[in-house]
Formats: sequence, structure tokens, C-alpha cells
Amino acid sequence: MAHSNISIFVPHAGCPYRCSFCDQNTISGENSLPHAEDVRRICTQALAEVSDRRETEIAFFGGSFTAIDREYMTELLDAAAPFVGDGGFKGIRISTRPDCIDREILSLLKGSGVTAIELGAQSLDDKVLAANDRGHTAQDVYDASRLIREYGFELGLQLMIGLYCSDEAAELENMQRVLDISPDTVRIYPVVVLERTRLARLLRSGRYQPMSMETVLSVCARMLSAFESVGIRVIKCGLHASEFVERDMIGGFYHPAFRELCESLIYRDAIGKALEGAGISGDGGSVDVVCAVARGCVSQAVGHRRSNTEYFRNKGLNIKIVEDKTVGKYQCEIRR
Ligand code: SF4
Repeated sequence: MAHSNISIFVPHAGCPYRCSFCDQNTISGENSLPHAEDVRRICTQALAEVSDRRETEIAFFGGSFTAIDREYMTELLDAAAPFVGDGGFKGIRISTRPDCIDREILSLLKGSGVTAIELGAQSLDDKVLAANDRGHTAQDVYDASRLIREYGFELGLQLMIGLYCSDEAAELENMQRVLDISPDTVRIYPVVVLERTRLARLLRSGRYQPMSMETVLSVCARMLSAFESVGIRVIKCGLHASEFVERDMIGGFYHPAFRELCESLIYRDAIGKALEGAGISGDGGSVDVVCAVARGCVSQAVGHRRSNTEYFRNKGLNIKIVEDKTVGKYQCEIRR
């Protein structure tokens, strides 16, 4: 069943630093902080609109939730609590920084209806974290992840791909480290350079030279495939489409269908390997081939704007994609 959130943004609340890439006002489209009456209004409205409440969480995003003023935090949690449980939503989800997690705050969250905690890890490379003004280390991510698990919360990690001073090797190392931590969920955000950030100044000065879109897509596709194949749910891949982001971006890797592009790439690779394994090539003619993929994955296998069928047609292969419930996600089997 699809998971969904009722997102309530607390832009930059609790943030002790301004990270190089971040402008939550643009990302969330919100310029003010919500209060109890806003939380109650949003939740009441959602109760009337959301049919699948048991798969829906009230989510406080866009700041460092566990570092915000305690009185304000309690005000928000108390306002959300009556909407959780019997007849209401599944729980409360929060996002925060890895260095703002300790036993005391986890006990408080546990007693307030919070069920899932997402850590803005961004990278697990200390050099990249320091270069982007994160103010914490990779060890903080490991320590916070362990504690969150110990207290029985669902653990999520958020990753930023292509930051200042990162490269393909560092990203693939990050991927391995996330696999080792084995969170329940991951969000993969390729960097989008927004106005009014330090990253924008670095880009304009020429000191930040982003990776190519091709490399970032390939890294994100590898992460998506690696995480999902071991049961880590990738609940976001690419920044959500937003008029504010489109207005304020000056560079980086934004595409409104970013996940679709990654999935096209995963399937191109899977189909290519299946064809090779079956000894099928289009050399010297036009060959018809039937490729079976998992149920519900035909459009991803066909590719964004039919990019995969076109790609193989140019190699002399007319591929027809069919569904087969026995085939795993992101896998392809040739049918004779
Ligand atoms: S990335 Fe997180 S911690 Fe950094 S400024 Fe943005 S919301 Fe705050």
C-alpha cells in the first residue's frame, strides 16, 4: 500500500547552521512557521480528504525538528497527537539533523506519537559534510541511526547527491555505507542549486563544478536499484516539482520526472544484460524480442518517453515489454 504524508513545514526551525545548499523557504514554499491552530486545521482538512488514513503520517519537515525550542516543539506535537491512532492517521514523522538526537529527545518523541524519524544525512563523507557547512560528521549519522533503531522508530535517511567537493567515487562509497546502516527508507535528492545559498555563490565563482547530469543520473539509478533490491524503500528520488524551485534554481540536477529517468536507466541496463545473457544481438537486422518485467513496471521498462525501446531499436532490436508477476522489480527476463 502506498505511503503518504500530510506535510507541515517548519522552515529552518532549529537549524543551528545554514547548510550550503539549503533554502527551505523556497523548497517548501512557506515563509512562516506553523502553530497549533495551523496543525489542527491541516489535519482536520486531511481527515476529510485522505481515504487511506492508516498509511498516512503527519510529517513535520523542512527544519531540525529535535533542535527547535522545546515549548514550540511540544505545541506542534500536542496539536497533532489527537489526529493519530484510532480513526486517525498512522503516526507522526519528523526530519532532523543527526547531531540532534539523544536518548532524552527520543523518549520525548516516543511518548508523543512519533513513529518515524528521518535524518538529513546528506553524505557520509566527512570532507563533503565539512565543505557544505553541515556541522556534523558521518559518525553522528551512525550513532543517531543506532539510537533511533534502539528506540523502535522507523529510520529514514536523506541523501544529497553531487554536493560541493563530492564526486562519483564518494557517492558510491556513500551508497555502501547506507546499505551497511540499512535504514527503512531513503530519500535521494540530486543537488539543485538555489538562489540565496552559498552553493549558488560557489557555482557563480566557478569553485563548485557540479558533476555531469549523466554521472548523477547513473549514481542515483545505482542507489535506487541497490536500496530497493535489499528492501530499503526509496520514498523519494529527485526534488518534488515546485514552481518555487523552478523559479529559484540556477543549476544542479532538477527534472520533474527524475525518478522515472533513473528507472529508465535501471531497466535499460537490465534489458541489456538479459539480451546479452540470452546471446541476442541486433547485428545485421531487425530482431523481435519479448522482455518480461515485474507487474506494474512496463512504463519504466519502456523508458521515459519510450527512450529504452528507441535505444534498442537503434541497435536493431524491436523489444516488446510484457508484465510477469514472477519477475522481480528492476529485473528483466527474455521470453521466447
Ligand atoms: S539542510 Fe537541514 S539542517 Fe541544513 S539548513 Fe536545511 S533544514 Fe537546516
